[in-house]
This record gives sequence, structure tokens and C-alpha cells, in this order.
Amino acid sequence: MDKKFKKNDTSFICANCGEFVSTLNYSSRDHCNKCLCSLHVDINPGDRQNECKGLLIPIGVDYNAKKGYVIQYKCEKCGQLHNNKSAEDDSFKTILSVMNGTYSNKQLK
Ligand SMILES: [Zn+2]
Ligand SMILES: [Zn+2]
Repeated sequence: MDKKFKKNDTSFICANCGEFVSTLNYSSRDHCNKCLCSLHVDINPGDRQNECKGLLIPIGVDYNAKKGYVIQYKCEKCGQLHNNKSAEDDSFKTILSVMNGTYSNKQLK
């Protein structure tokens, strides 16, 4: 296992849409399962050491045979790109809207 990966499975209130996102239990919960947004809080996965704390907005989705859907993010504040694995209970409707380019994080507020 990658030593840099720190499991950090906590529930949170989504900074974008206000949804209560419960813990994931099988892995780290790192993004909202409704609007898919995340916060730029990690330098290495789960470490919460990043001072940026900007909103990570999904800009694309890749399908990986091993990992499943991988969501690509761009930080609204610093512009850094970031990838997160999709969670089992992510809204598939939202994933599709990212894939077909109709996604807007503002619509989900
Ligand atoms: Zn959300
Ligand atoms: Zn950032």
C-alpha cells in the first residue's frame, strides 16, 4: 500500500451544494456524491495539509478498467488539476453530465 495514502473517511457538509455527505466506509470519502465537488485540502491523498482549500470542480471523467470512473478536477482557486476515484454511491446523472459537458456546479445548489 502507498504510504502516502492516509485513509481519512469522514462525513462532511458539501461546500458547494450543502448536501450532508456521510462516510464511505470502504474507502476515503473525498468528494460530494451529489454534485461531485471536492475541496483542495490534500497534498497527498488524505493528508489534509493543503492550505488552498479552494473548490475542486469536476471537469472530466475517465473510465479505467481497474479503478472504474476517475473524476478529473480543477481547483477553482489555484487552478491545480486533481484526480479522484468515483465512489460507489456517486450520482451517475452528475457523472454523465460531466462527461457530456452539461455539468454546472451552480445548478446543483
Ligand atoms: Zn455537493
Ligand atoms: Zn487549490
